[in-house]
This record gives sequence, structure tokens and C-alpha cells, in this order.
Amino acid sequence: MRFYRKESERLEKIESFVRSSLPSLGVNKKQEITRLLYEISKRENTPPEKIIEDVHIKSFDAVKEALLKRRFPYAYINDEALKLYLPKLKLDKNSALNLKKTKFYPGNIFVEKSARHSSLAQRFKGSFPKARFSEIASLKDYLKTRRNFTIETYNKRRDTVFITLENYDFFKKCPCTKKAVGCGYHIFNLSFGCLFECTYCYLQEYTNSPGLIFPANIDKFFQVFSSYKKPRMRIGTGEFSDSLMLDHITQYSLPIIDFFKKHPDVRFEFKTKSVNIDNLLKTDHAGNIVVAWSFNPQRTIDENEFFTPGLNERIRSAKKCVEAGYKISAHFDPVVYFNGWEKEYRKVIDSLFSAIKPKDIAWISIGTLRFNPRVKQVIETRFPGNKILDEELILGYDNKLRYPYKIRHHIYKSMLEKLFKHSKKLSIYLCMEDVSMWRNLPKLTNPTRSFCQLK
Ligand code: SF4
Repeated sequence: MRFYRKESERLEKIESFVRSSLPSLGVNKKQEITRLLYEISKRENTPPEKIIEDVHIKSFDAVKEALLKRRFPYAYINDEALKLYLPKLKLDKNSALNLKKTKFYPGNIFVEKSARHSSLAQRFKGSFPKARFSEIASLKDYLKTRRNFTIETYNKRRDTVFITLENYDFFKKCPCTKKAVGCGYHIFNLSFGCLFECTYCYLQEYTNSPGLIFPANIDKFFQVFSSYKKPRMRIGTGEFSDSLMLDHITQYSLPIIDFFKKHPDVRFEFKTKSVNIDNLLKTDHAGNIVVAWSFNPQRTIDENEFFTPGLNERIRSAKKCVEAGYKISAHFDPVVYFNGWEKEYRKVIDSLFSAIKPKDIAWISIGTLRFNPRVKQVIETRFPGNKILDEELILGYDNKLRYPYKIRHHIYKSMLEKLFKHSKKLSIYLCMEDVSMWRNLPKLTNPTRSFCQLK
């Protein structure tokens, strides 16, 4: 609540100033000036009264221009087509997330009637004997009576689990983003919702369930797979959840690894920030399983990836997986820009390569921070002390909030240099970037063509 109190005091002061000094402005203009003053004050850690002193009230346009220059100095000077997103700023005490780490122990576990005898339901019963178990006809019917999802509901999602039978939504092509170069990835749509709390997570705006969803009929996925399979495809869980966060309970990895022994031309990827790899270490595999971690400097993890294991733990787990014969992949995604980012990311890359040989890395992706503009307000209310919104985020080619083009280009170029220093043979692609960015960078690997040539 400390962050909420500090930020709401800041906002109150600014709102009061705008009301008294610019009384003739309409609602939208007041809202824009309030937001700009707030963002500057938070980013510079400057009391609002100081910024206000510096603002000489002439006209709305003059005030706005002065504030834009100060809020987006890089984008302004570098002549970026400044497409901004300045929605109403609202902080809410009840939506601020409690960042105290607690053990995952759901209070309510709802089991679809058709899944009541499943081994997954039994394992949840065994793992959480004190949880209240209730039978429901179906998740779909249950949700019909509870449509009002709020940020508060999302904050409490770890208290509720649904065990379901999936009937329709087994696989899909990764939707990527408008106008981006796709990587041809496919999603194995197993489970929905995550235990971790990353400030930038898109699920916090996207989610339409009050809890975490785990299908109990993984065998049905396997049945359907043969009609979905594409030659030499890359597919993975981890799009709508973390692949391994609860693997000790779901045990999903075991039948998956076994199933893909029959499909040696497919590469299956578990994407995780967890270190829950015991099942992987005790299982034989066919060499086509890739275990992926997202890597960030510890500072970024501390500020943005709450409840996740630290960088060194992730690297140690990746090393154990390599020792067990798996390939790993590394996702530098999102790369978060801050003063001193280059030094910190160099340390991450050097630590990774001091533990893992380049030949054991199947692929590497790099993607700079981006999100749907609506996520910005969710981040503000859930994480009022966040630093991730302080950098210059403007609407990019796909209308997502991103760093300006030249900053992104600089990040990619610098990351590629640091990575290729360790091996020229690494397969590296960009995640959700447009054609011009690909063209302006050297030695990228087009993922739709190259990755499934098994080594
Ligand atoms: S680990 Fe991934 S899915 Fe989970 S909160 Fe973080 S970004 Fe979202």
C-alpha cells in the first residue's frame, strides 16, 4: 500500500493544480495535462509542485508541448511521429496488488462434472486437502453467472482453480501482431492463467476467468494433434500460462515428452520462468524437447517479475536440463530499457554462456517491451510503484505501446553483438517486429524456415 499512498498523493496534488489553474479546459484536455504532469513527476522523481512551477501557463497547446518535450525527450528530439496514448489516469486502492509473496494454496477448486474422476482432480485433492472442492456442470456455465471481471478479481485468481475437459480449443497458430514478421510458432493450448505476477504480462488485461484453468484430458489433445500437425513445426505451451509452474502437480510434461517421441520432426517447447524441472530430469526424451527460459537482469526481475525465481536459479536449471540432454532456448523478451541496461544485459548473456554452450541452445528470441495500450492502465493500478512505464513508450507500427524505433533498433543491434560474440552460429530471431527492423539488422534467422532442422 506504500506505493499506492505515494502515487495517489501525487495524483491528487496534480488534479487539484489542474482544476485551479486551468479551469476553462474541457475534460479531455484536463485529463491529458494531468497525465503528463503525473508521468513526468513519477519518472523524474520530482515533486509535482516543482514541475508546476516550471510550467508557464499560456495556452493549452503551449503547456502541452512543454510537457511533451519533457516527458518524451528522445522521441521528441529524434523526430519520431509521436503517436501517444494519454488516457485518464485512475489509481484504485483495491486494485493495487499486494506484493508480499505467499505460497500457492487455492481456497476453491472447481471440477467439471466430466473431469471429477480424472487423475488431475485427484492430484489437486492430494496436494491441497484443505481447499474447498465443488463440482460444476461446466466452466462455461459457471462463467455465465459471473461475468463481471475486475482487476480485483484478477488479483485474487490464485485462490481459484478450475479443472476442466477441453473440447474445442486445442491448438492454434500464434497470432503474433499486425504487420510483424511471424515466427511460425504454434500454441499447445494447455492451461490458462499464471501464478507469477509480471508487471508487463498481457494476461492481466486479456483474461476472462476468475481462476487458473487446467484441462484434465491431455490425451484428447494428443488425439487431435495428428490432424493439426504441420511438418517440422515448433509448438509449445506457455502462451497463456507458464509451462512448468505447477508441473509437480499437473505432471503435464511427462505425457507430452512421451507423446512427442512419436513425432521426432516436431520441436516442442516448454516456456517457463520457474525452476520446476524435476519431471524433465527423470524422463527419457527423444531430443526434440526444448526447455525455454526468459532471461532478464536481476534488477528487472526484482522490479517486474514478482514471485519468480531469480536469474541465477533459472540459469542453473537450464544447465541441469542441458546435462539431461535437452536443448534449451533463451527468450530475451521483454528486453526492458533503463539507464545502464546494456551493462546489465551483457552480464546476463555472459552468465548464460558461462553455463551453457552455444550448441545446446536451439534458438534465441529477442523482443523489446510492448503491450496493448489498455495494459498501461492495468499496470498503473496494479503496480502503482512500477518503473516500467517511466521510459518513453509510444504507439508503434501495430498500435502497441513500444519504445521508439531507434531505441529498439539500438537494443537489438547491441544484443545481437553481445550474443554473436559467443558464437556466430546462434539462431536468433526477433519477436513481434516489423519487416523494416528485420531488414536493418544483420544475421537474423528466419524462424519459419530454419529451426526444425534437427541437429
Ligand atoms: S510468467 Fe509469463 S504468463 Fe506468468 S505473469 Fe509473467 S509474463 Fe505473465
